[in-house]
Amino acid sequence: MAIAQEPPTSFPQAGNVAGVSQEEWATQFAAQSGAATRLGPFESVHVFWLAGMSCDGCSIAVVGATMPSVESLLTGSLPGVPIVYLHHTALQIEAGEAYMEPFRKATRGELGAPYVVVYEGSIADESKAMALGGYWSAIGEEEDPARPGEARQVPSAVWLKRMAPGAAAVVAIGTCATWGGIPAAYGNPTASMSVQDYLGRDYRSTLGVPVVNVPGCSPVGDNFTETVAALLLFLQGIGPLPEFDDLGRPAWLFSETVHRSCTRAGYYEEGSFAKEYGDRECLVEVGCWGPVVNCNITSRGAINHIGGCMNVGGPCIGCTMPGFPDRFSPFYKAPPGTFVSGTASKLVGSFVRPLRRITQRYGNREVAWDRTGLVTSGWGAPKGPTFLDRLVHVAYDRMRRSDTRAKHI
Ligand code: SF4
Ligand code: SF4
Repeated sequence: MAIAQEPPTSFPQAGNVAGVSQEEWATQFAAQSGAATRLGPFESVHVFWLAGMSCDGCSIAVVGATMPSVESLLTGSLPGVPIVYLHHTALQIEAGEAYMEPFRKATRGELGAPYVVVYEGSIADESKAMALGGYWSAIGEEEDPARPGEARQVPSAVWLKRMAPGAAAVVAIGTCATWGGIPAAYGNPTASMSVQDYLGRDYRSTLGVPVVNVPGCSPVGDNFTETVAALLLFLQGIGPLPEFDDLGRPAWLFSETVHRSCTRAGYYEEGSFAKEYGDRECLVEVGCWGPVVNCNITSRGAINHIGGCMNVGGPCIGCTMPGFPDRFSPFYKAPPGTFVSGTASKLVGSFVRPLRRITQRYGNREVAWDRTGLVTSGWGAPKGPTFLDRLVHVAYDRMRRSDTRAKHI
């Protein structure tokens, strides 16, 4: 499988890993040694999917991904990307010890291929469950050291602790895993926390990368598969280190706000706001936090570039953000800042909107109609320009033509 290869010393793009540039990272990486820290090419990579306090929504989102799809990762049909062996509790055909064996091999360093750990759901304090004689979330059994001869369930957080040091990357998927999410909301009876809170800020994978965070509740599946594909290309030694922001999010996916790509942003700009669900205007007054939330669902869609919160009529509740849910609740209530920005938009809109309608009416007519006075549309009678429309457009057209040769219309 593997061909030994020197780590590259330069990359086509500058990245950022925990405050160091790609060049600094490459120097540090080159100073390390050992099979665990080398880049590929590799024929295959194992992906271990661990689940904590989760609803499985992240898994559902990911199997719906299309760009790239899970199938293309599993079959190795993406050029340059190694075949992915996915170990997932719900998708795996094997069960019992046959399922668990690769986990054990990975912790013993006997897998014979690099691996990535993906964690879905937040991490609860298992000692609270143990005190009640149970567990919150676990995968597989092993002998209980406290009671020889008896089996105990192994919490998925324990697997994470064991496997993270040897992983090429640890990827937290979904807001529960990235920031704690719903289980860690106010009250938090299970003392739940995120993967990075659990592993600590000093955690680094064998590639020197802190926990990679792909948030969302549920996340956009394509955001996850694209990030994994980018990491795998990097692991192969043929792609640049993907750029992450200060929160460990793929920077190219989370740098913009929802609002900037929202299909309703034009309504916001004109100060037209929905009064109730189902209205077509901007949803800020019925509880949309889009102007301050980092999320790309408005441009990428939920699945196969279709859907996405505002596209289907739902206001943004900030589900990708570290402050979610406590700093965005109560949901479906206008954010306080709306008073200032919404009032400003209404003021501007009350002036700009009528002017735009005049130009819209004017542009919605053939020049010949106004020249001959004959409208040829059999569908109805498009409103003719009013006296005010004509008046405004005498000045408007003069300005429009002032720096062009198109003076004939
Ligand atoms: S619905 Fe939300 S994201 Fe869209 S324009 Fe209104 S405030 Fe912005
Ligand atoms: S638009 Fe808001 S609520 Fe919808 S997925 Fe993005 S962050 Fe979550």
